Amino acid sequence: MFGNDKLQLVTIAQILRWAYQNIDRIDARILLEYVLQVNHAFLLTHPDQVLSSTESECFYQLVIQRIEGMPVAYLTNERAFYDLVFNVTTAVLIPRPETELLVDLALARIPINETCRVLDLGTGSGIIAVTIAKHRPCANVVAIDLSVDAVSIARINANKLDINNISIIQGDWFNGLIGEKFDLVVSNPPYIAVHDPHLEQGDLRFEPRIALTSDDDGLACIRDIIRAAPIHLHPDAWLLLEHGYNQAAACRQLLIDESFSNIFSQPDLAGIIRVSGGQYNCSP
Ligand code: GLN
Repeated sequence: MFGNDKLQLVTIAQILRWAYQNIDRIDARILLEYVLQVNHAFLLTHPDQVLSSTESECFYQLVIQRIEGMPVAYLTNERAFYDLVFNVTTAVLIPRPETELLVDLALARIPINETCRVLDLGTGSGIIAVTIAKHRPCANVVAIDLSVDAVSIARINANKLDINNISIIQGDWFNGLIGEKFDLVVSNPPYIAVHDPHLEQGDLRFEPRIALTSDDDGLACIRDIIRAAPIHLHPDAWLLLEHGYNQAAACRQLLIDESFSNIFSQPDLAGIIRVSGGQYNCSP
C-alpha cells in the first residue's frame, strides 16, 4: 500500500488492514485513533472514511516506529493508569497495570476526611502520587524524582489533572527532605538487576535505565529506601514498596532488620508477589 513515493488515498478499513499485517491489532487501532483523534467506536462505524494524505503519512510513520519496537505509549505520549490518563515521554517509565496494586494498598491506608502526609519516591510520570492525591483530596502529597525531566512530566500531569494537594520536587530519595516526616511512604523504585536479559527485550529497551535498574541484583534502591525511611516516618506510618517477582522475601527481611511491624507481601492480579510493606513504630 505504501510502496509508491506518492501516497494513495485510503480508507480507515484499508489502512487498518495494512497495519494489521505489520503490527498488533490493538496497537494499530490505538495509533489510528490517536492520528485521527477519534475513539474506537468511530473507527468501527466509519470504515469508508478517507484519510487525508497527512493523516495516512503520519499513521504510516507511527507504524514504522512500532515495527522497530518503539512502545505505543511513547508514540501517543499517553497511557491510562487507574482511572486517569497520564502524559508520558521517553524520560519516564511507562505506567504498568501492576502498579495499581501499590495505589490500592496506599489508598486503603489513607483516611478520606483527615489530613495525611504522603511521600512518593521516584515518582516518574507521577502516576502514584497524582492518583493518590486525586482520590484523597485531604492528603498532602510530596513526589520526588532525581530526573529533572521526570519532575517536569509529573508536574504537567498534576496540572492537567487539576491536582492541587501535591508538591513535586527534584531530589535523591530522602536527601531533600531533612527533618520531614510522613504518614505513608510509597515507591516503585528501579528494581531490575543491571545485567537482566529482559532489559534487551520489548518495551524495556526504550525506557530510561535510571528508572529500571538497580545494583546488587536489583535490590540496592529498595535497601537504601528501607534503611533511610525510619527517621522520615511518623509513629505507625506505613512504607509500601513495589518490587520484582523474586524480591519479596529479601524486601521483608530488610523491613524486619529495620524493626518494622505488620510486615506483609501481596500478589498482583497476575499472582506475582509485587508489593511488600510494613508499619513503623507500631503502638502496642
Ligand atoms: N513511580 C513511577 C511508576 O510507577 C516511576 C517508577 C520508576 O521510574 N521506577 O511508574
